[in-house]
Amino acid sequence: MAKPRLKIIPLGGLSEIGKNMMVIEYENDIIAIDAGLMFPSAEMLGIDLVIPDISYLLERRERIRGIIITHGHEDHVGALPYLLPQLNVPVYSTKLTRGLISVKLKERKALSGANLKVVPPNGKITLGKFRIEFFPVCHSIPDAVGLVIHTPVGTVVHSGDFKLDYTPVSGKPTDLSRLAQLGAQGVLLLLSDSTYAELPGYTPSERVVGEALDNIMANAPGRVIVTTFSSLVSRVQQVIDAAAKHQRRVCFVGRSLIDTARIALELGYLNAPDGVLAQLDELRGMPHNKIVFVTTGSQGEPTSALVRIANRDHRQLHILRGDTVVISATPVPGNEALVNQTVDNLFKQGAQVLYSTVAQVHVHGHGSQEELKLLLNLVKPTFFMPIHGEYRHLTLHAKLAESIGIPKDKIFVLEDGDILELNPQAGKITGKITSGNVYVDGLSVGDIGSVVLRDRRMLSRDGMVVVIIAVNRQTGKLVGYPDIVSRGFVDTREDKDMIEESRQLVARVLDHGRDRPAEWGFINTKVKDTLHKFYYEQTKRRPMILPFMVKV
Ligand SMILES: [Zn+2]
Ligand SMILES: [Zn+2]
Repeated sequence: MAKPRLKIIPLGGLSEIGKNMMVIEYENDIIAIDAGLMFPSAEMLGIDLVIPDISYLLERRERIRGIIITHGHEDHVGALPYLLPQLNVPVYSTKLTRGLISVKLKERKALSGANLKVVPPNGKITLGKFRIEFFPVCHSIPDAVGLVIHTPVGTVVHSGDFKLDYTPVSGKPTDLSRLAQLGAQGVLLLLSDSTYAELPGYTPSERVVGEALDNIMANAPGRVIVTTFSSLVSRVQQVIDAAAKHQRRVCFVGRSLIDTARIALELGYLNAPDGVLAQLDELRGMPHNKIVFVTTGSQGEPTSALVRIANRDHRQLHILRGDTVVISATPVPGNEALVNQTVDNLFKQGAQVLYSTVAQVHVHGHGSQEELKLLLNLVKPTFFMPIHGEYRHLTLHAKLAESIGIPKDKIFVLEDGDILELNPQAGKITGKITSGNVYVDGLSVGDIGSVVLRDRRMLSRDGMVVVIIAVNRQTGKLVGYPDIVSRGFVDTREDKDMIEESRQLVARVLDHGRDRPAEWGFINTKVKDTLHKFYYEQTKRRPMILPFMVKV
């Protein structure tokens, strides 16, 4: 393959939903697009967040010209507070995105020293040999953009997250004419959002939700409690509009929602007529059919306002007869059980609950198959690479590209860490770099590895058994019988005999009574092996066994 080539390297977001980050490299210049986080899956016990592994970038720090952020959703900006202090490069985004980034950085005390630059939704910047052009896309948050990246090898179009809503609530529709123009001039590579590549047809317009909300505000006999993603600014706008139309006042509940709404109001991306927004205490004494709450908790997050309300655990808000709760979001895969439980609890409290399977109270922000095909047809890229999605989404998107005539050998389905190299004629996956998950747990970033997670899984599955072995301080000889304490393994009262038997067994294999110094390495292995085998025979369980030596 002729040199030099353009390299495209996904650090996250391929074969998974979340932690989107894409590296584009040409000779001495590197740019990164997005720096998102992913919420942990069920088996990542105790993990708060997952962010991309950026070892590749850290090794090439002096060549990175900047990070460009397509929009303010967590899966595109959420890793910045952790990555930016390490990379210390400028970040380019539109105004609202920048506002949301600064909130995130401030929360983690990473704002000072950050170089955040604002680019208009159709602005242009030059970073090294890359000339980058922003173009507006319609998504579920205002000020979202896609990118046109002019490189010495050819033009790359990155769709960001997008759909083709011709009647969006806020923000602009996707700029199709610019895309068609680029298509006519020739595009080397299209990187396009695959999140909803499974869905046939078109994604319904936000207007559908507007109408549903309008109906609810008009007819609900009491208070209306709407929950959605706090970053879904255009949905919050729809709630305000519908509430205002029916003389209801709106109160935000939940910290992340209050923060996002404040920034969006300040920057003019959220608008409310005078007197519509209210603090909680201003609503006291008002007729219930004049009140709307907007809360966090659309994903059933255990500490969120809605879940607290559903569990009668919220300090200020309780469900009252006549309340209507609207869940204006769909569960992110993995959160279904939490959301369903919340819905059940709300029904139990006597609320009427409306959610997307029973009412048109949510449409998603990503294009369905016909929209993806339209983009492919307009841009007419030489090469195509589906991005943002699980492997099945990427595969289905690749099939759509084939169906509109892009040859199979010009479509590249990558996974995180794969290196795609392109020249104007040909492309090839040439290798793999270090990539993967970095776990954020409490205050620590990156020190939780697969060993810790394996232990947590083991503990959560079969519990643990602690074996305390006493040794004479002077002689180093074993003293008495071992003590056995267990948690999460068996009911120690019910299975008293088995535990007792295991004590005897340990004593026997360690040869208690015989006058022999205890050697720790031997004891440790012997106890573990013996008990693993014994407990497995008795219970078919494999608890974690932790021998301890105490000197007496
Ligand atoms: Zn998004
Ligand atoms: Zn996204």
